[in-house]
Formats: sequence, structure tokens, C-alpha cells
Amino acid sequence: MRISKLFGKTQREIPAEADTASHQLLLRTGMIRQVASGVYSYLPLAWRVLKKIENIIREEMDKAGGQELMMPALQPLELWQKTGRDIAFGQGLFTLHDRRDRKLALGPTHEEVITELVSHNVQSYRDLPLLLYQIQTKFRDEPRPRAGLIRVREFTMKDLYSFDTDEEGLNQSYDKMLQAYRNIYDRCGLPTLLVEADSGAIGGKDSHEFMLITDSGEDEIIYCPNCKYTANADKAESIKDKIEDGEPLPLEEVNTPGMATIEEVSNFLQVSQGRTLKAVFYITDGKLIFVVIRGDLGVNEVKLKNALGCSEFRMATESEVTEAGIVAGAASPIGISDVKVIADDSITSAANFIAGANKPDTHLKNVNYPRDFRVDLITDIARARAGDGCPECGGKLSSTHGIEVGHTFKLGTFISQKLGAHFIDANGVSQPIVMGCYGIGLGRLLAAAIEQNHDDKGIIWSLAIAPYHIYLCPLYLENPQVATTAENLYADLISQGLEVLFDDRKESPGVKFNDADLLGIPIRVTISPRTLERNSVEVKWRSEKEPQLVPLEGAVNRLNEFIRD
Ligand SMILES: [Zn+2]
Repeated sequence: MRISKLFGKTQREIPAEADTASHQLLLRTGMIRQVASGVYSYLPLAWRVLKKIENIIREEMDKAGGQELMMPALQPLELWQKTGRDIAFGQGLFTLHDRRDRKLALGPTHEEVITELVSHNVQSYRDLPLLLYQIQTKFRDEPRPRAGLIRVREFTMKDLYSFDTDEEGLNQSYDKMLQAYRNIYDRCGLPTLLVEADSGAIGGKDSHEFMLITDSGEDEIIYCPNCKYTANADKAESIKDKIEDGEPLPLEEVNTPGMATIEEVSNFLQVSQGRTLKAVFYITDGKLIFVVIRGDLGVNEVKLKNALGCSEFRMATESEVTEAGIVAGAASPIGISDVKVIADDSITSAANFIAGANKPDTHLKNVNYPRDFRVDLITDIARARAGDGCPECGGKLSSTHGIEVGHTFKLGTFISQKLGAHFIDANGVSQPIVMGCYGIGLGRLLAAAIEQNHDDKGIIWSLAIAPYHIYLCPLYLENPQVATTAENLYADLISQGLEVLFDDRKESPGVKFNDADLLGIPIRVTISPRTLERNSVEVKWRSEKEPQLVPLEGAVNRLNEFIRD
């Protein structure tokens, strides 16, 4: 491809609307263009990368025994109502009406459609197991599309569904997919970490994510350096430290003028934050929920949402709290009667807490559970932290950040039961099919690859997914010897099946080198009057600092070796 003809221009300025490295670089390289919030066009360079990722995924799915098919994005809402997942997805599900006023949804995932399909094609245990997949467009109405291709509303996903006769079969299919996923990331040159995950709106019981580790990742990962425990912070468990226990003392009011936050109150009363109780308020399915947790801990909203089993979920506003007769800043679970109270189990980890008194500028000392207040539910709803105890070995947990680039779920039978997908087992008994599902977002993997592999000059692609292998970079094209050599080399490289981006522009060396670095093509081949004096070309890997001279004669073979090895 000649750069002079390439559709999509590089730009030097850092786009103001982009706050992550991948978003900035995708815009600066002219690879994507936003059409609407969270909706993008992919220009030729990005499309080539996506196609390469897609091919690797397809090869690994086929190798694992997957059969590719294609299902529609447009789906009857009725199917979603049968499984109840129209409610679980809530506003994330794009819905629409057709001209006859029938309700439809744009598929955010395809469990319903494929289970219905399988129910018509599977009768006997002999028809199972099955691994079926597609590579197709998905729609999710994200509340906050962000970070370019990381969180979008329309995206291409590979989704595979496994169908087995029993749990053991599901475990085998699941392990096969985990291995296929490892192969995919390895082949893309993108190391990932497998972590335990929350199932979210997809449902099911056992779930894992593949995380690409990078400081800019939006997911926090909690792991134990001592054993193998690794989990998304949304899901991670931990052993909370015990605070020394005293005998419960009598309740006592203390004056706390103007002190509203845990930090202010604990500083004012000279106690650690772990000796206070924090009140946090949510609205779930239209009702106010009072959450109590030890003052030094944070609420894990995913755990809380799962504990409540609700669909609508958000923080309450101050006026909603006040309307319920609660004094914000001095809120107290003591004496609360008509609000549901959910407590983290950390409220039993110490005695004699400081809590609000539900009076302005007043707190209570020596608050003890269950002596002084009741709760409707007490369970683990705290966010695990680095430094907490590992739930498996008791060691000290650490944390890091990553981007989720793959998600796998053991769904079990809840969807097949609701949609009547059964088979007749060896004893002639009808059984629900046991399911799993496995997804990779292609655009997100592309963005995550950049997030993990770039420097201040631009992208650093791995050979496997780079849009081109070679950046052919002749300098001083007005020199006829340079021009002829470059044209000949370009033709020779292409005839060898190598993918070459030919910088045929009459630009300065500085402009050309900057664009080569920005675009991140793995190998830059420079031809200049100086290299030709030595009958050579200069070869430089984007990932390395120093170039090397390669004799012009045999250069094509040498480059071919670099790329094929
Ligand atoms: Zn451990």
C-alpha cells in the first residue's frame, strides 16, 4: 500500500476528547472515526488489524471443535422476556418497535437465539456436545461510552456457546475454551491473566475473565502473590482484619460540630477510621437502602447488587436521604425502622464503634451490633483491598489493573430450562442442556493491545496483528537511485507475500520517521543515499532502539526470514 493513496491521515496534535493512550493513538493514526457516542467507523488500517485478530480467533475456535454460524442482530423481545434477561440487562438492551408495533431488541449477546435454535436441532444425548460460534455485531446501550474502543455501544464480538449433557461435559468444554483463549492471546503477542469474575447480567454461576495487564486498565485485579488466587475486584473476597475487641460500653452522645465525613469525624474524635461505621445510601428498584460498613472499607457495588438481586441500582441523592427522615452526615442505623438496612459483616469485627446519631452535629460512641441496631441482611459487601488477607491461603493480597479482553461463563441450565432446550438421555429421560458461553470483543482487544504496547512516539504492534509487516521508508525520493531502488524493493517484497506500507511521499526524513513510529509497523526499512553508498538498507524494529544495515542483495530474503520466524 502506498501511503500517498492510503485512506486515513495521521495527525500530530493529541486530540482533546481522548484521555487514554489507545484512544489518542487510534485517532492520531487515522484508524477510527467516531460516528456517534460509542459508535465508530474503522478505517483501512484498523480494519486490517481487526481482520487479523478475527482470523486468529476463528482458527483457534475451529481447532477446538467450534462450528461457525451466523445469527441475526435483530431479535424478538419476546425471546428475552422468556428468560427474564430483558430485565437483567435493563437499559443496556437496545429495544425498538417495527411497523406492526412488534417489539424487537438489538442483540447484546445471543444466548436466547442460539438456545432456541439448538432446541429445534438437538433431540438426543448423541447430538451433544456442541460448540457453536459466530463473529458478529453486538449492541449495548452503555451509560458512559468512553476510552475510544474500550467501552462502546456497537462492537464486533466472537461469541461461542457450548451445549453439553452434564456438568462434567460443561467442565470439559470450558477447559477447552480456556485453552483456546490462551492460544489466541499468545498468538496475538498479548500476555493476559485469568481472573475469577462476576457473572453480571449474563447470569450463571462460574465465570472468568482474561485480563490484559496495564496501568491504565479500568478493572482492578486482586491477586495473591503467595497462591494462585486472582479475581476481579468486583468479585474478590478477602479476610478483613479484626480490630481489638473491648467490652461493649454504654452508648454516649458526642458533639461533632460540622463533621460529616468519616475522615472528619475520625480526626476530630482521634480514632482510626476502622473504629467508625459508615452509612451509604442507594436506590434499588425504587426503594431507599441503608448500607452500613466499617468506616475504613468501601462498598463493593457489584456484591451489594448481587446480594439484593435487584435490577435498578444507583446511589441515592442527598434529598432522597433527607426525605426519608435521615440526617445526612450524621446518619445512623440506630432507631431506623422503615428503611431496609444492609450491613457488611465488618460491623462485627470490632466493638464500640462511632456512628451517626441521626441528629445534626452529633455522633454516638460505643455503638455495638446487635445490641444497638437491627439489620435486614448482613453479608460480605466490602471491596477487597491490597493488604487484606487472601481468602485461600491467608497471605497478603496485592492489586493491579487490567482491561478485560475475554469473558467465559458456566451458564448451567437456567436458559435452556426457560427456553425448553432439552435432550433425551441414555435412559430415555428428558434433561435440560447444560450451557456455557465465551466472548471476545475484537475492537476492545485491538485497543487493549495499543494500551499495553505503545511509547511516547506511538503504537508498537506485534507482527501477528500489525496492519502491515514493513514500513518501507525511502528518504530523498528526488534522488533517482533511491526512487528506483525503493520501487524495485517494494515490488519484490510484495511478490514474496509480505505486507508493505510504502511511504512514497516526498516528505522530510523527520516527518516520515515520526509517522513510522506513530503507526507502529514492526519493521522499518530505510533507503537513503547514505545506505545506498554501502549497497545496503537500514532495518529497524519498532520495538528496538538500534537499526542494523542489511545488504541490498538478499534483503528481501532476510526480511522474509524476520517475518516468517
Ligand atoms: Zn493466597
